[in-house]
Amino acid sequence: MKDFFISYTKADQSWAEWIAWQLENAGYTTIIQAWDFHAGSNFVANMQRAATESECTIAVISPAFFSSPYTEAEWTSAFSKDPMGTKRKFLMARVEDVKPTGLLKSMVYIDLVGLKDDEALDRLLKEITRERAKPEKCPVFPTKHERLETQPPRFPGVLPVRVFFILCTFSTDEIKKLIIKQNQIQNLFDIGIRIADWKSWAGRPNAEMNLKSLQKALELESKQVLKLEDKEQRESEIRKVLLKFCDEFQSHMSKFDKEHSDFGRLPFNGVNIAVTELQFPFNYYTWNTKDRNGVVVGIRSLKRLFQDEPQKVSKMIIRVIQRMCIYSLGIKDLKVHKDTKGCLFDFTQELKDIEFSVNENPMPICGQCRNTIEKEKNSQFLNTITEWIINSFK
Ligand SMILES: [Zn+2]
Repeated sequence: MKDFFISYTKADQSWAEWIAWQLENAGYTTIIQAWDFHAGSNFVANMQRAATESECTIAVISPAFFSSPYTEAEWTSAFSKDPMGTKRKFLMARVEDVKPTGLLKSMVYIDLVGLKDDEALDRLLKEITRERAKPEKCPVFPTKHERLETQPPRFPGVLPVRVFFILCTFSTDEIKKLIIKQNQIQNLFDIGIRIADWKSWAGRPNAEMNLKSLQKALELESKQVLKLEDKEQRESEIRKVLLKFCDEFQSHMSKFDKEHSDFGRLPFNGVNIAVTELQFPFNYYTWNTKDRNGVVVGIRSLKRLFQDEPQKVSKMIIRVIQRMCIYSLGIKDLKVHKDTKGCLFDFTQELKDIEFSVNENPMPICGQCRNTIEKEKNSQFLNTITEWIINSFK
């Protein structure tokens, strides 16, 4: 049983995804067509199943909603379970100026019209947690939401990016806040950076056990590798160990996709980012998996670098996430390099370089990488990316 089923029409998909993302981020589980239904599966059957297998249906209401035959079927089914609205089986979130009619006329809705991001989030969560939501100020007179009018179109063909917190005891609240902020200032990534619901996956204990035992085995292997005298051979063996470690994470993250949904999620074809406190081999703090489709970030090594400055650790993790997001845009000539201090693509183990990139550097992408991005995409694209990175800690 999921907490919420989000019912919406195509016209309000960006709102529906925003609501679902925020709810999941606040610890609830959701079902939403955009993320949970296979293309080609029976749409109406999925909808009905979703409505009955959720504690509560949230309808995203707008003029388009009331003119769709599919959504009418969904809300009628959800509403009939709780016609008085007392069990909160059915809620409405209003995103455009519309007056509910018929059966829904007398029901109170969560009004998101005319609100800024943070105000809308605040109201949504307050209503969901059943707190009294009397606004501090008189609500804004309903007008069409500005964001729908002014947001530039998304760049097509980009991959989704998802963050897993695996074997983490480190407080990840701050990283999560930064991720939310990162999503609010972007329109490059289709559904934004999502946080995977790793904790509620039944396969998790087994996956974590495997990761721990591989880590132990690699620790022993690492000791042998470091004894190798030939430098080239040693470095190549180091890379092999790092890759084994990271690919184990990737395989569990892929398994999570296949198994962790009653509805079978769409095959995830994006970038998986694992943030972990499991000891990274050779004290590295990050390494990519095969084909750059995933990355593992080691909090422990970062903590050692930053000596208990959790803010810097969080910022550093955001930088790695940003780098992976940019890789996911498919800019093929963009490569890791070692020579330009502070560039997003030049993260070595040098403490000073890393510190520079999160603290002082006014331009976190070097000239050469900027040229590459501009050449493969265009200058507007480069500007959007640059702003997205620069504004992340402001
Ligand atoms: Zn660079």
